[in-house]
Amino acid sequence: MDYMKRNIPCLLILFLLPFTLFSQNAYRKEIGIPDIPGHRTLKCDFHVHTVFSDGLVWPTVRVDEAWRDGMDAIALTEHLESQPNEDVIGNRSRSYELAKPMADELGLVLIRGIEITHSMPPGHFNALFIKDPEKFDPNDWRKALEEAKAQGAYVFWNHPGWLQPDEIPIWYDEHTEIFSKGLAQGMEIVNERSYYPLAFRWCLEKNITLFGNSDIHNSLTLDYEEWRGDHRAMTLVFATEKSPDAIREALDMGHTAVYHTGLIIGKKEFLLPLFNNSIHIINPSVTIQGNGRALLQVQNLSEVTMVLETSPIISWFTIPQKIIIPGGKTAGIILQATKEMPGGVHDLKIPMVVKNFLVGPEEGMEVELVVRVNHLL
Ligand SMILES: [Zn+2]
Ligand SMILES: [Zn+2]
Repeated sequence: MDYMKRNIPCLLILFLLPFTLFSQNAYRKEIGIPDIPGHRTLKCDFHVHTVFSDGLVWPTVRVDEAWRDGMDAIALTEHLESQPNEDVIGNRSRSYELAKPMADELGLVLIRGIEITHSMPPGHFNALFIKDPEKFDPNDWRKALEEAKAQGAYVFWNHPGWLQPDEIPIWYDEHTEIFSKGLAQGMEIVNERSYYPLAFRWCLEKNITLFGNSDIHNSLTLDYEEWRGDHRAMTLVFATEKSPDAIREALDMGHTAVYHTGLIIGKKEFLLPLFNNSIHIINPSVTIQGNGRALLQVQNLSEVTMVLETSPIISWFTIPQKIIIPGGKTAGIILQATKEMPGGVHDLKIPMVVKNFLVGPEEGMEVELVVRVNHLL
């Protein structure tokens, strides 16, 4: 009894601590996109604003939101030219400093960033992993990008189609200058709800790293209706671990993809292992009698609905031409043998295209489902 009395204040502190962060019980959702061999798939948003530029929320609210939203890392990227603003006093480091303790407590990687804001050309650029935001010149984009390079920052071109007719990006001489001088290494192919297929093409052709970010200014819950599966655009970073150094290393190697409203966009070297770790054939070995059928059970372990199309050139069997497997569900797919299928055991490689895994601007990813069929004549 005495022991309990003595320890009540301590226990109270223990129980109260988590609630100092949140006004009520808080829940983090886990984003259902699997890791790939040798790498974790980190869910990152490298473009976020707070009241320290033209955003509408306080920095700690951004951290709270990001944790609940299943993010592993975010970067606060206040506009360079609007700091300090006339309503919120603070230097260019203030939003980061306010957010950092809470990010550390929640295990969220917080990256120090800034948005170098200039009209087109060359438009807006985010600099990540900067050291001293006070050294940036808001009036001269060349000096600002040179400063980012001097500080060892990682720089990407934001929303390249923004304010252009039909949101189709235009590549100006300034962009040739910036990328050829190594002043930027990446590009947003998705910003907020806009996907720029041409920017994706440029990234593939010029070996530029892909980004997809929310550029959120509002509160997350006002902009995204999570109850109907709506989510912010995010950059998937394939990193050896969840840390700032591992994220930086992965960005330097171009190990990214983009998750945007049911689409996964990126290079096949990352999308194929992502698909393979998402799809599990429960019964990979089936028996078919004559020209009978078998029910293949294919489970989707990810949250991304898989939209599959089969190739029409298959002579030994038939299979539905379009197969949709919602996130977290198992599809029963009818595989029917034709008269052409010989008797015996066959390892069938069923060619398919994953329509919503984009490995080119409008190009789905080719995959093969491997099934063993014991065909009894
Ligand atoms: Zn911008
Ligand atoms: Zn922005």
